[in-house]
Amino acid sequence: MHDIIIIGGGAAGITASIYAMRAGMKTVVFEKLGVGGQIILTEAVENYPGFAMISGPELMEKFQQHAEKFGVEIRYEEVKRIKSGPKTHTVVTDEGEYETIAVIVAAGSQPRKLHVEGEERFIGKGVSFCAVCDGPFFRDKEVAVVGGGDAAVKEAIYLSQIVKKITIVHRRDKLRAEKIYQDQAFANPKIQFLLNHVVESVNGGSVFQGITVRSVSAPAQKKDLPVGGVFVYIGHIPNTKFVDVEKTEDGLIVANPCVLTTSVPGIYAAGDCRNTCLRQIATCVGDGALAAYNAGEYVEKFKSSLR
Ligand code: NAP
Repeated sequence: MHDIIIIGGGAAGITASIYAMRAGMKTVVFEKLGVGGQIILTEAVENYPGFAMISGPELMEKFQQHAEKFGVEIRYEEVKRIKSGPKTHTVVTDEGEYETIAVIVAAGSQPRKLHVEGEERFIGKGVSFCAVCDGPFFRDKEVAVVGGGDAAVKEAIYLSQIVKKITIVHRRDKLRAEKIYQDQAFANPKIQFLLNHVVESVNGGSVFQGITVRSVSAPAQKKDLPVGGVFVYIGHIPNTKFVDVEKTEDGLIVANPCVLTTSVPGIYAAGDCRNTCLRQIATCVGDGALAAYNAGEYVEKFKSSLR
C-alpha cells in the first residue's frame, strides 16, 4: 500500500514527489514516456526563477536529479484508470494494480491537432508539434507556424535561428501571446503573419508539399503556402481520460484552487491537467507543492483514523 501515487513526471508531478518524499510519504511516480512533460519540448526557458535562461530538457533533468536525491521511485508505466473504493484507491497501469491512500493527478496535456485533411499522414514528415525536436530538419527552408499563443510565437522566434522564413498562421486578427514575445516576433525580419486564416489542408502525395490556408472572413478565399514544414501550436488537450472526477467541458479536472482537492476524496489534481488560469512551469511547481502538502495531510488523517 502506497501513501501517495503521483501520475505524471512533469514539473507538477516531480515537485509533488519531492514534497511527498520529504514528508516521509511512501510515494511512487508513474510516467508513461519520460520525465519532463511538455517542458522538454521548449528550447529556452527564461521565466523560471533562478535560471535567467535554461533549456527545457536541462531544467527537467535538474528536477529529476533533485527528486532522485530524495529517493523517489519513478515507474515507467501508463496509467489506464483509477478505481476508487470506499477508503483507498487502486491505480491500474499497463503493468499492474497499485493500492494507495491518496493520488495526485499531474498528467499534463498533449498537443492539440488541427484535424484537417493530410495532417495525420504527414506527422513527422512535414507536420511537427515540436520546434526543438524537428526545427533542424528545416534548416534554410520556409515553414509555417500555426497558432497565436505563447507557444506559437515563442517557437517561431526560436525557429528563426534555423529556418529561412516563417509564416505565423493565426485564426484571429490579434495574437494571444505575451507582449514581450509579440514585440520580438514583430521585430524579427524572418517572421511574417497571416492573420484571420486557418489551415484547410496539409498537402502532398508521398512527399509533403505545403499547406492550404483559408480566410476566416471569406472562406472561399484559399491559397497554397508551399512551405517545407508546418509547426502546430494551437494549445493542448489534458490527459485526464483515466480518472473519473468532475471535469470541465474541455476535460480539465475541476480542483479547489486552495487545496487542489477534486470531487473524489483522496484524489488531487496539479498542473496543466486542471482548471487553472495560468499554465507555466512556476505555476505547475506551486501546484505540485500544494497538492503534495494537502495529500500528505489527508494520508496522516487517514492513518490516525485507523489507530
Ligand atoms: P494557448 O495559449 O491556448 O494558445 C493556443 C492558440 O491556438 C490560440 O492563439 C488559439 O487561438 C489557437 N487555436 C486554438 N485552437 C485552434 C484551432 N483549432 N485552429 C487554429 N488555431 C487554434 O496555447 P499555448 O500557446 O500552447 O500555451 C499554453 C499555455 O502555456 C499558456 O498558458 C501559455 O501562456 C503557456 N506557455 C508559456 C510560455 C512562456 O514562455 N511563458 C511558452 C509556451 C506556453 P485564439 O487566440 O483565437 O483562441
